[in-house]
Amino acid sequence: MIRENIEEVERKVKDSCRKAGRISDEITLMAVSKTMPVLFLREAYEAGIRDFGENRVQELMDKIPQMPDDVRWHMIGHLQRNKVKYIIDKVAMIHSVDSLRLAEEISLEAAKRDLVVDILVEVNIAGEESKYGVTAEEASSLVEKIAKLPALRVQGLMAIAPFTENPEENRPYFQKMKKLCVDIGEKNIDNGNMTVLSMGMSGDYTVAVEEGATCIRVGTGIFGAR
Ligand SMILES: *Cc1c(COP(=O)(O)O)cnc(C)c1O
Repeated sequence: MIRENIEEVERKVKDSCRKAGRISDEITLMAVSKTMPVLFLREAYEAGIRDFGENRVQELMDKIPQMPDDVRWHMIGHLQRNKVKYIIDKVAMIHSVDSLRLAEEISLEAAKRDLVVDILVEVNIAGEESKYGVTAEEASSLVEKIAKLPALRVQGLMAIAPFTENPEENRPYFQKMKKLCVDIGEKNIDNGNMTVLSMGMSGDYTVAVEEGATCIRVGTGIFGAR
């Protein structure tokens, strides 16, 4: 079932790319495997998935040694500063950086290990109370400040759009994210290149792809309900 689900997501991504005049190779399909057993992750791996997203540090640490070395792990959940040290050398990218203080901690721990860590700045694009992330207005100045830190590289932005039955409702938010990414990119901030736009989940990834997502994070649509 997992393989079929992945094939379906890939097919829909291709359709959206065709509609939008994009190349599907530009888009990374991340399997969001939080709460799922390693057996399921292995099935996804067998079906070609190499990017996995987790939102809890402990779960991430438990799963890493049980999966092949070429998996790229993405931290997509809220990250506490005191836990940065556990994952810093194990993740390909941290998608959920929402404060200068967190970024400073990441840079500090990365420097200790001679690493440069790729991060995204999380934007609360719909201004929802329940969500983490900076406002669209704050994003640019946070990127500028974070980009000055020595041991990390800002690669772009991440957003979690509102939960909705109708993905079209999120189109304006995805458009706003794309514009924000381009606007910040045009400032040519040293050490920040704004090439990654992480947005779109099971319910709305087709619209996100049409609007410029380069990384979609799909959980339920691959593994079934949590
Ligand atoms: C859980 C989660 C997802 C995946 O959600 P689905 O609706 O199951 O696809 C994507 N991004 C983040 C940040 C998540 O926490």
